Amino acid sequence: MDIVHITTECAPFAKVGGLGDMVYGLAKATIQLGHKVTIAMPKYGGIEKRGLKNLSVLHKNFAVTIQNKQILNRIWSAEFEGIPLLLLEIDRGPNYFQSSAIYYSNELDNDRFLYFCKAMMGYIYQEKTPEILHLHDWPTAACSLIQHELQKTFPKIVFTIHNFSYQGICAPFNLERIGLNGEKYLIAEDLEDSRYSSNINLLKGVIKYSNALTTVSPTYAAEIQTEELGCGLDSLLRKEHKKLFGILNGIDLDYWNPKTDPLLAYQYDEKTVSEGKLKNKQKVYELLGLTLDQKPLVTSITRLAAQKGVDLILFGITHTLKLGGKFILLGSTSDPELIESCEKLQKQYKDHPDIAFYWGYDEQLSHLLYGGADMFLMPSIFEPCGLAQMIALHYGTIPLVRATGGLKDTVHDLENSDLPNGFTFRVPDNRGVASVLDRAFATYHEQKEVWENLISNGMNSDFSWKTPAKKYLEIYQKITD
Ligand code: ADP
Repeated sequence: MDIVHITTECAPFAKVGGLGDMVYGLAKATIQLGHKVTIAMPKYGGIEKRGLKNLSVLHKNFAVTIQNKQILNRIWSAEFEGIPLLLLEIDRGPNYFQSSAIYYSNELDNDRFLYFCKAMMGYIYQEKTPEILHLHDWPTAACSLIQHELQKTFPKIVFTIHNFSYQGICAPFNLERIGLNGEKYLIAEDLEDSRYSSNINLLKGVIKYSNALTTVSPTYAAEIQTEELGCGLDSLLRKEHKKLFGILNGIDLDYWNPKTDPLLAYQYDEKTVSEGKLKNKQKVYELLGLTLDQKPLVTSITRLAAQKGVDLILFGITHTLKLGGKFILLGSTSDPELIESCEKLQKQYKDHPDIAFYWGYDEQLSHLLYGGADMFLMPSIFEPCGLAQMIALHYGTIPLVRATGGLKDTVHDLENSDLPNGFTFRVPDNRGVASVLDRAFATYHEQKEVWENLISNGMNSDFSWKTPAKKYLEIYQKITD
């Protein structure tokens, strides 16, 4: 098949979160299965210096008309690890993509990405004939409105929801700038919901006009059809449920592999996992000033966002200390309120021998922690898929998670699974966090064999991209038949 992904992110050269990892992993696996895949995205500033190869101009003066004005663009082709890329650069016009930042603010991003959709769709209709356009999250949702407006039924459109809480709310004039009838979409899509009565919700449009909808785990696919996590669109999704599929993301096993990971202090496999954990733990303690002892190490590696259950993580730290463990938190945030509560906790535990905080994003430290920790705490309020728990499992670090979204689909509790690999709790409160920590500590100290079996089940899980890629191909096939 011939597939074009239209996206704002692709890991690792233009990545903010899991969306970028998914596009890269799925494209690579689909190519390995013998299909033609291209990734179409903006040419952000400096992108060419991040490992892109064979960069050349395909089209020098590709014209896009916005409000009767012609904007000239350059369309580039390039390659990243064998994946063909199509990159949009605005040559003469607004400098939407000159900076290396992928997202700015909501207001600016509406115009930036609506323009990207208009330009890319124009180029694809003119120069390419893919069977599938695969769109990702709200910034690319307008591609489906453009196709609808032109009354085209080809290429077929698949839309993946990575995070339903970002919906692309814009005004009719934003759509009018790219030549779409804003009022028409306002009336057709939004009057029924009073919250959006003067705005357009781009996700609403794409839910209606795409041929298939996917999201990144089966449980999240069910959850977004409920009022609790449906973000106001649950009734529409229930109406369209026949075309909605939940497919669990994979992880990049070339990159996340404890046997070959160059960022570990000591590489290990299932047979050498205890030695590996000890040596990586030692390295982390050296870096963060903790002393090596027999205490189990719990970690959280996360964006500190409300979605991740920050208060529950902070409670988890206190409870771990009570149980006689050590805790290392690697967290990144720009939210001043969250920074304040984290700093408060850090002050409270200043010079405590069993706790360390590292604020910011640190790739190397994250690898050492996956390698050295015994348990991984992830008490998310909601979690479309979650990569961190899958990486933890693959590195023999036992996940303690709230059973929601992708966490529920990947972590199987010791007490209610034939193939357990971790501990789960249901209600997102301190009691839930305490319950998983209590059970995990008791098992760690008192049931060595059971613990080793959890590690072994986790390390042997299949998180390759091959299985999800085949599921996406089935959907592509079904909608083109
Ligand atoms: P999300 O995409 O919602 O942030 P995921 O669990 O899907 O959560 O993916 C998070 C990824 O980002 C994982 O690979 C995790 O290791 C990494 N990560 C998160 N926070 C940090 C951090 N502060 N430092 C290093 N890596 C981080």
